[in-house]
Amino acid sequence: MRDGDLINELQTHGMRLVDPRAGHEARRGGAGPSDHKAITINGTTVMVPVHTAPAFASPYLVERPDAAGDAVVTRDGVEVARVRFPLRPRFYELATADGVPYSHIATLHSRDVLATTVLQTCIRYESRKKTCQFCAIGQSLAAGRTVAHKTPGQLAEVAEAAVRLDGVKHMVLTTGTPPGKDRGARVLAESARAIKAAVDIPIQGQCEPPDDDAWHQRMADAGIDTLGMHLEVVTPAVRQRIMPGKASVPLEKYFASFEAAVKVFGWGQVSTYILAGLGDTREAILDMSARLTAIGVYPFVVPFVPISGTPLESHPTPTAEFMASILRPLGEMVVDAGMRSEDIKAGCGKCGACSALSVFEKLKVPA
Ligand code: SF4
Repeated sequence: MRDGDLINELQTHGMRLVDPRAGHEARRGGAGPSDHKAITINGTTVMVPVHTAPAFASPYLVERPDAAGDAVVTRDGVEVARVRFPLRPRFYELATADGVPYSHIATLHSRDVLATTVLQTCIRYESRKKTCQFCAIGQSLAAGRTVAHKTPGQLAEVAEAAVRLDGVKHMVLTTGTPPGKDRGARVLAESARAIKAAVDIPIQGQCEPPDDDAWHQRMADAGIDTLGMHLEVVTPAVRQRIMPGKASVPLEKYFASFEAAVKVFGWGQVSTYILAGLGDTREAILDMSARLTAIGVYPFVVPFVPISGTPLESHPTPTAEFMASILRPLGEMVVDAGMRSEDIKAGCGKCGACSALSVFEKLKVPA
């Protein structure tokens, strides 16, 4: 099986672990994709679901890793791949002077990405009616695994340690949406300024489109290198059903903000996250991706993974065939538009671990 196909298989089915302690802790709850573990397949590190309903029934079984973290993956008793689990990051051993574990402030994603949700509260999450149905931003907070508002000083302290101890290469600052019109841009800028004063690390900010486009420049001036504004789903009826609160932000607002942001951050340095498998057709996702790439926005399409405890916890994952039918042409489209995962300075598109997109891009790129 080719790497892209194997990654699609694992990301859509998930994997069962003979030793549930393999690798470092899976992220549980929180904003965006969750309940995954990082594994490396032939040099590409990806996130694969482990704590989800489909993963418990996955045909893929991962044997106990050896001391170096290497493990065999089988399907029906037959070896299909060898993978490696990254070791536990060293910065997870540390805590702030007032006793907050660094792992409650930011976590390691994939192999070399430091990620944090600056504000763990969200105006969209406060009522069942308005909440994005896939999101678990409040769960890790309720379980005491994170801090509601990570201060700029805390983020700077953890980022410096993660770079020094674990060789982290870039950082993702996402946020729940606060009540103000800046939609989180202000808190991202404050955080980035403090982090950049402590350590030289490329940063992606992720927020809803701010009311005033001037925020893009303010974020860039504060040290944010790339920006993610996430559509999640693209068809109007699916937006209403899956994220009734966020659907109140019209697609036109996203597009106006994308165009303004590309002028500030550059071609291919603005991105959006699209969750395939929630009702958008292949054509709808590819049509939207064509609109996005035409204006310099990188469409990071990932398979939807249901998170336990959310309204969509029993929603099926997309099939590997459905994902391949999107990611194959999308890989070509992205490269034809002059964008590539590896050219992105920071963030999810660069990391690429939640999707096989970057692997499909390489099929198109001449060696
Ligand atoms: S793609 Fe984004 S959310 Fe997924 S592991 Fe990488 S940084 Fe984290």
